Amino acid sequence: MTWTERQRAMLAEMGLRVWDVPAAGETGVAASGAPAFAEVPLTSRPPEAVIKAAQSPVAIVPKAAISSALGAASSMDWPALREAVTACTACSLHQSRRQTVFGVGHPQAHWMIVGEAPGEEEDRRGEPFVGRSGQLLDNMLRAIGLSRQASEAPDPSKQVFIANTLKCRPPGNRNPLPEELAACEGFLIRQIELVQPKIILAMGRFAVQSLLRSTAPIGQLRGRVHHYQGVPLVVTYHPAYLLRNLPEKARAWDDLCLALDTVEASAAHLARGA
Ligand code: URA
Repeated sequence: MTWTERQRAMLAEMGLRVWDVPAAGETGVAASGAPAFAEVPLTSRPPEAVIKAAQSPVAIVPKAAISSALGAASSMDWPALREAVTACTACSLHQSRRQTVFGVGHPQAHWMIVGEAPGEEEDRRGEPFVGRSGQLLDNMLRAIGLSRQASEAPDPSKQVFIANTLKCRPPGNRNPLPEELAACEGFLIRQIELVQPKIILAMGRFAVQSLLRSTAPIGQLRGRVHHYQGVPLVVTYHPAYLLRNLPEKARAWDDLCLALDTVEASAAHLARGA
């Protein structure tokens, strides 16, 4: 397989160096004698698979989740929702947080990224994904032309809204507890309703548990398009996991491409119908 300059640039943003991968039947040794391989295995998907996935998705419809927060949040606008999050004392995390971490990005972004919970840096700065995981996430987003920063006249199709399943930091960065996820989920549900994204990227197992009600491993859920309330949803590894398992970045790259192809396929579909 050969990579275009654009693809190489994208992969470089994610910290992946690639060489050309030999097609079936090729020797694996380039004319120069250098090994013709990728630093980590990079897979490619036929576009038909993407289009099929976009048109006939494997839908895992979440069961109706009624928490007290959901009831209260379900009719709020952005300012009311932000205030409700700031004032929330629905679970014990409010006792240890420095501040709540609401979410960041364009309110009508086409892309919605859902992570797990704020860590120490996020708790200090009040913004999701600003630590090491956040740097990787920003690089991954930049690799496909997306940003959390709005320019003067932002194009929503190039913008993301980043939110977490929990709005408060679990002490010592422990995993979220089921009761914390339940108490907080109404906020995330309302954020998704307000943003109305064209695609959701669910990063890591807690995002997947919240949105797809699935405890299956990420490895089993990634690679196909799911749906959350009618919105296409792609499952991928959490950036913190990628920092510990660098070879998995190649799979995360595939997931980003699947998400990108899915949005582009549905935009093209809509344009044809319009
Ligand atoms: N990990 C997350 O899932 N969210 C953050 O905001 C930071 C790290």
